[in-house]
Amino acid sequence: MSADSIHAGTGPAARPWRPAAAIKASVVLHAGGLAVLAAAPEAWTAVLAAVAANHVALFGASLAPRSGLLGPNLTRLPEAAVVRREIAITFDDGPDPEITPRVLDCLDRAGGRGTFFCVGRSAAAHPDLVREIVRRGHAVENHSQEHSTAFGWYGPDRLRREIGAAQTTLARLAGRAPAFFRAPFGIRNPFVDPVLARLGLRYVSWTRRGYDTVDDDAARVLGRLAGRLDAGDVLVLHDGMATGRASRGQPAVLDVLPRLLELAGARGLKPVTLGAACG
Ligand SMILES: [Zn+2]
Repeated sequence: MSADSIHAGTGPAARPWRPAAAIKASVVLHAGGLAVLAAAPEAWTAVLAAVAANHVALFGASLAPRSGLLGPNLTRLPEAAVVRREIAITFDDGPDPEITPRVLDCLDRAGGRGTFFCVGRSAAAHPDLVREIVRRGHAVENHSQEHSTAFGWYGPDRLRREIGAAQTTLARLAGRAPAFFRAPFGIRNPFVDPVLARLGLRYVSWTRRGYDTVDDDAARVLGRLAGRLDAGDVLVLHDGMATGRASRGQPAVLDVLPRLLELAGARGLKPVTLGAACG
């Protein structure tokens, strides 16, 4: 099954790609640079400097995960969800046979729902875990096929294959095509948005992240997530790959999540899936 058949079948409908203002400005700058070169070739150093500055700016935007410069970026839940006192707790990099079932148990005990940004390759290796996530009422979304550290350097074709392969894998296993995409490491380049538009995917980053893959101190991770916990928050933890481990050897997420859910409950906040929150 190809990415196109998902898009045409059970997947979300493609949306028209509207280049963000920064992309339009970059296209105009490049076209203007060519026009200047044609009319006055001796101005090549100024043109080169302007184009180089533009590329540095776009590169900077790629590295700023919560930036909306390169396209729409969901960093908080919509107002309707805020009114309903909802939050979205999201888990990246799974599924993992050791961690994901324990995260699911924890969510179940608190009556909360979570959103799992799965890596296509890991999902294919643990298909039963994907089905279990869905069976228990949680959501499976797209976090790329391979989760490569080179993701930010991929061109349009490679991105289409990488995101499309995960979309196909996850749709087949979850029985529903993902509606949201989060880039590995939160790095997206200017070519990502057109690919997402074609697949009908919405880009999601976060309100706050716990940094639980690099910090094994559960209290600090919890503090980052819950210090200013409020309705509409989109929070990030990890249920796979290089998850940080607290001092007694347990992945930090398993120490943090019960306390986070308790705090949310005490503040009258309801953890729901991204799809439920965004309608
Ligand atoms: Zn990740």
